[in-house]
Amino acid sequence: MERLLQDGQVLANETITPVVKRMVIHVPDIARQVTPGQFVMVRPPEGKNFLRRPFSVSDTDSAAGDIILIYRIIGRGTAEMADMRPGDIMSVEGPLGHGFAIPEGRALLVGGGVGIAPLIYLARSCPVKPFVLIGGKNESEVFWTRFLEPYAEKVFVTTDDGSVGKKGFTIDLMPEVLATEKVTAVSTCGPGIMMRGVAQLAREHGIPCEVSMESRMGCGIGVCLGCTFEGQVSHHRRKVCADGPVFPAEEVFG
Ligand SMILES: Cc1cc2nc3c(=O)[nH]c(=O)nc-3n(C[C@H](O)[C@H](O)[C@H](O)COP(=O)(O)OP(=O)(O)OC[C@H]3O[C@@H](n4cnc5c(N)ncnc54)[C@H](O)[C@@H]3O)c2cc1C
Repeated sequence: MERLLQDGQVLANETITPVVKRMVIHVPDIARQVTPGQFVMVRPPEGKNFLRRPFSVSDTDSAAGDIILIYRIIGRGTAEMADMRPGDIMSVEGPLGHGFAIPEGRALLVGGGVGIAPLIYLARSCPVKPFVLIGGKNESEVFWTRFLEPYAEKVFVTTDDGSVGKKGFTIDLMPEVLATEKVTAVSTCGPGIMMRGVAQLAREHGIPCEVSMESRMGCGIGVCLGCTFEGQVSHHRRKVCADGPVFPAEEVFG
């Protein structure tokens, strides 16, 4: 797969919550090639920040040539993105990394925070509608259901405060889901502590699990080595950007 650098027009930059936005960018060559779990590195060409920032492609419209990013505003780069308007130009590098294997049977996708973003495209790509389990702090963090429901058999929700769905964390509800639903693969993206718990539960149930890591990274193409970790199975330094961001759970958590 070719890595491309394309200037794309921002078609929309919709506010979802005060700290989360959804950006649609017209980059036809990248939209046609990107697979679920892959990411792009972006920066406005005239922007203040030298380094590009990595974002999962949360969905595509390959016929129209668009990619969709759902992002949380946390620092300088994302604040600059949040100010962009339809018609502005974004420089996009991608598709980058290795994405999710598309599960053949009924998968369970588990996501927390902005780690839910890549699960939308993955859910849409599954041949059998997956179960999806998402968690957030409160009601304002589980807006994702509206993007996931069209592609999911069922979306289970947990919130820390119990304002929507079951009170608690995704890993509190996951055993119940696995006990009642037949699942043949688990894919997860979110905070490390959540993914560790998800991986452990999958292992206890004998279900293969893939995890997607959102480590901080500088270059996104395997040069700066800012995102490496020690592979627990391979015993080699693994680059999240180039070898991942998706790995078998055992490679990350042992
Ligand atoms: C493969 C990959 C996919 C990603 N997909 C998404 C996505 O779909 N949606 C989304 O909102 N975000 C995603 N991220 C995270 C996103 O890249 C960062 O939030 C973004 O780069 C922050 O840029 P900034 O300039 O706004 O923040 P900065 O000014 O660079 O940092 C602000 C603060 O956030 C912390 N921070 C920055 N990046 C990260 C990170 N990756 N993990 C933990 N803390 C961090 C910094 O340490 C600092 O405290 C992804 C990251 C990776 C590696």
